[in-house]
Amino acid sequence: MRKRKTLIALLLCLALLCGCAGPAAAKGERTSGVGFYFDTVVTITLYDAPEGLLEEIWAACARYENLLSKTIAGSDVDRVNQAQGEPVQVSADTRAILRMALAISEASGGAFSVTIAPVTALWDFTGGTQRMPTAEELAETLPLVGDSRMTLGEDTVTLPAGMQIDLGGIAKGYIADRVAELVRGRVSGAVLNFGGNVYTVGEKPDGSAFRVGIRDPQGDEGSYRCVVEVHDDSVVTSGIYERFFELDGVRYHHILDPVTGISADSDLAGATIISHSSMEADAVATACIVKGSEGALELLDTLGLDGLLITRDGVVLTTEGFAEKYNLQGN
Ligand code: ADP
Ligand code: MG
Repeated sequence: MRKRKTLIALLLCLALLCGCAGPAAAKGERTSGVGFYFDTVVTITLYDAPEGLLEEIWAACARYENLLSKTIAGSDVDRVNQAQGEPVQVSADTRAILRMALAISEASGGAFSVTIAPVTALWDFTGGTQRMPTAEELAETLPLVGDSRMTLGEDTVTLPAGMQIDLGGIAKGYIADRVAELVRGRVSGAVLNFGGNVYTVGEKPDGSAFRVGIRDPQGDEGSYRCVVEVHDDSVVTSGIYERFFELDGVRYHHILDPVTGISADSDLAGATIISHSSMEADAVATACIVKGSEGALELLDTLGLDGLLITRDGVVLTTEGFAEKYNLQGN
């Protein structure tokens, strides 16, 4: 009898020990990798990841790139852009992105427009051509911009002939969301960095929150203006310093005003949005740069989102409560 009691006590102790070891089995073992997708350096850091997870992430990135790139023949976007008015069957991923794009386009009064594609095609911010589109080219292409003329069917997208889409301002956010979903519950923590889109999942090995630096638009690459702490949220930054060239003293950057077809010349140099939906934050960050500080704060208020804006003069503006909520440091 006594032996049995001792055995039960031993088993209980063991069960308790195992119980404690459950989620805290986290040893903080770090796995990381760097890839190049969507024209961006993608940096993935995982803590206590199961074997093969990093490879799963790269496979997902490749799959999304093949679906969403406008330059890959046969991608959903390429097929939509070649359709000349015909409906095109697209994946659920593409439809989810276009639904969000439409919503943010409407909320921002067209400042965010995925149908900007014929206009972005007139510019070259990466190839070094440094060329301005002519007034004729802009007059020809601007009437082709207007997201409300895009029709989303049950599994199709239809654009009027001549119109095209460019998901450069939203797709990385969608992919960050999907990768966050892929790792959630399988790691003790993760930092997923898709260029300007950062998603943090879980926590650091010491149990503290991940800290994300917000780029100083006036500083060099890698210099941060402030730092925020985030728990399982995405921090997305759009800025006029990412891809640009200067001509006759004017900076032409890759975020275009859909009204003029020329780089947005609002008072904002950077916009950072924090949201559980990296896709929403991505589209909204781009829209904020076009709208300027006043319109951006209004948009964030309407959408119930948190954001931090940095003006061209270096002034930091935030939505209410931002500093306390994210333990904002260094502004
Ligand atoms: P990044 O891609 O550098 O993170 P953004 O998310 O702000 O920056 O997206 C900029 C990209 O979005 C451009 O390269 C272009 O493909 C596209 N784009 C440019 N202007 C607009 C706009 N007004 N609305 C929607 N997409 C845009
Ligand atoms: Mg964006």
